[in-house]
Amino acid sequence: MTRRRILQAGDTGRAVCQDCATVVPVTYCYRDVPFREMPGSAKGILSGTCDHCGTVVLIPAQSSPHIRYWLEKTTPPVRLMVSRAEMEIFDAALAQIHRRLVPEGRGSALIYAFRQLSQDPALRERITNALPAFQAEISSILQRARVKNLKVPTQQLRLSLSPQQAIAIRDLAGTMGLTLSDLGRAAILVFREAEKDLSAEQLRKFRADVLAQRFERVG
Ligand SMILES: [Zn+2]
Repeated sequence: MTRRRILQAGDTGRAVCQDCATVVPVTYCYRDVPFREMPGSAKGILSGTCDHCGTVVLIPAQSSPHIRYWLEKTTPPVRLMVSRAEMEIFDAALAQIHRRLVPEGRGSALIYAFRQLSQDPALRERITNALPAFQAEISSILQRARVKNLKVPTQQLRLSLSPQQAIAIRDLAGTMGLTLSDLGRAAILVFREAEKDLSAEQLRKFRADVLAQRFERVG
């Protein structure tokens, strides 16, 4: 094995260019490279470009950390806007699991629910079917407050996520045809429905899994 060469601008090589449909001479230079995972691009990435058509045909391993840097910098944060009406329901479900989950464990609990929704099509279907009734229930709580001239605050939940997690959550919202905030409601519903749908044994496991996630994140 030869040691991997450190590439610099102006170095040359050969590679297949899809656009030219042949093996072409390649020159390394700094280019903006579109992300595979989402819209946008990584700026100033050392890349091998086709000498004939200028397309980026090679991205050397040494450029990966720079792409990751731009991916992290560019990923929009996931912000969920929900009313305190939903939060009361969410917090009550979390408090059943562990009293210290409120408020510090909310983010981890939501991420746990998103992962369950991604992995379990049956759960996804159940929650999708139950969501309109939940939304209607919340609307009627807000309406009743409004009639009495009472304001129910809106709460922003900002999740701290890796780019991969943020992308996965946006993909999940797309799959379920929901806005991010409605996906947050769906996640809250996962917690409330667990109390109704799961057997005592399943509920014990669900709660243990949520707690494990919390402690895994706190380290
Ligand atoms: Zn080419």
